[in-house]
Amino acid sequence: MRLYLGVFALLATVHCEELFNGDQVLRIQAEYESHIEVLKELEKNVDWGELLDRERGVMLHNAEMKSRAKGFNFAAYHNLEAIYSFMDTLVASHPDLISKVKIGSTYENRSMFALKFSTGGEKKPAIWIDAGIHAREWVSHASAVWIADRIATDFKENRAPVPSLLSKMDIFLMIVANPDGYVFSHISPRPFHRLWRKSRSVTSNPNCPGVDLNRNWDAEFSGPGASDDPCGEDYRGPSAQSEIEVKNIADFITSHGNFKSFMTLHAYSQLLMYPYAYNGSNAPDQPELVKKSTSINL
Ligand SMILES: [Zn+2]
Repeated sequence: MRLYLGVFALLATVHCEELFNGDQVLRIQAEYESHIEVLKELEKNVDWGELLDRERGVMLHNAEMKSRAKGFNFAAYHNLEAIYSFMDTLVASHPDLISKVKIGSTYENRSMFALKFSTGGEKKPAIWIDAGIHAREWVSHASAVWIADRIATDFKENRAPVPSLLSKMDIFLMIVANPDGYVFSHISPRPFHRLWRKSRSVTSNPNCPGVDLNRNWDAEFSGPGASDDPCGEDYRGPSAQSEIEVKNIADFITSHGNFKSFMTLHAYSQLLMYPYAYNGSNAPDQPELVKKSTSINL
C-alpha cells in the first residue's frame, strides 16, 4: 500500500531552508496497518495555520533578497507580477528566440501570456505547455519558470536536444494558466486561501465562487471526476469552455491549427499521465507513450 504524503513536501519547504532547493516529496510504503495509523497521527498533528504563516514569511524574505540582488531566484516562489516581469526580462535577453504572446484576459481582466520560443517560420508544428491551472500548485509555476530559462539557455549554448527541436517546432509556454486564482492564493487575508484551486468567476452560488478550470475543457465535460456543485473543489462550471481562461487557450490552439502536443504541469504526486483519463481505452499511440514515460527518471 502506498501513501503519498504531500504534507511532507510542505513540511520540508518550511522547516529545512528558506528556499526549496533539494526538498523532496517522500513516497512511503506502509507495510502494516500500524504504520498507516502512525502516518494518520502525523498528519493530524500538522498545524496548517503555522505552516502557511511560515511559508508567507519565506516569500517575503525571498522578495527582499531579490530586490537586493537584482536577480531572479529560481529556487523561490514568486507572485504574478514578478513572474510577468521575469518573462519580459527573458524576452529582452533573447529577442531572436522568444516573444510574449497575449492570448486574452481573465475573468478579473488580467492578461494571459504565453512565451513563444521560435527560430522563425509561419505556424510551424508546435508544442503547448502550461502550468498553474490549479492556483495553489505553486511549484508548477516555479517549474515552468525554470523550464523557460532552461530552454533559452540550452538554445543559446547549443545544448541538445533544444536546438534541433526548435529547428522543427515552436514551443508555447504559459507559466500562469489561472492568473486570478494564483493572485488570490497570494493575497487573500485568510490563510487557508493559500490552498485556493479554482478560478475566481461568479457561480450560481454566491457563497462559492470559482470553477475548476481543469474540469471545464470541451473534452468529456461533466464526466467522472468533475462536480456540478459550485462549492466543490472540482466544480466543472455550467458548460464546456464557459470559463474565459479555458476558452482563451482553446481558441488560441484551435486557431493556430498546427499544435502536435499539449502538456500541462501540476503538483502533487509524481505521475506522468497521458490519455485517456476518462476510460480504460488506450490512446492510439499508447506504446510510444509508455516508452517515453517510462524512460523519464522522476
Ligand atoms: Zn492540479
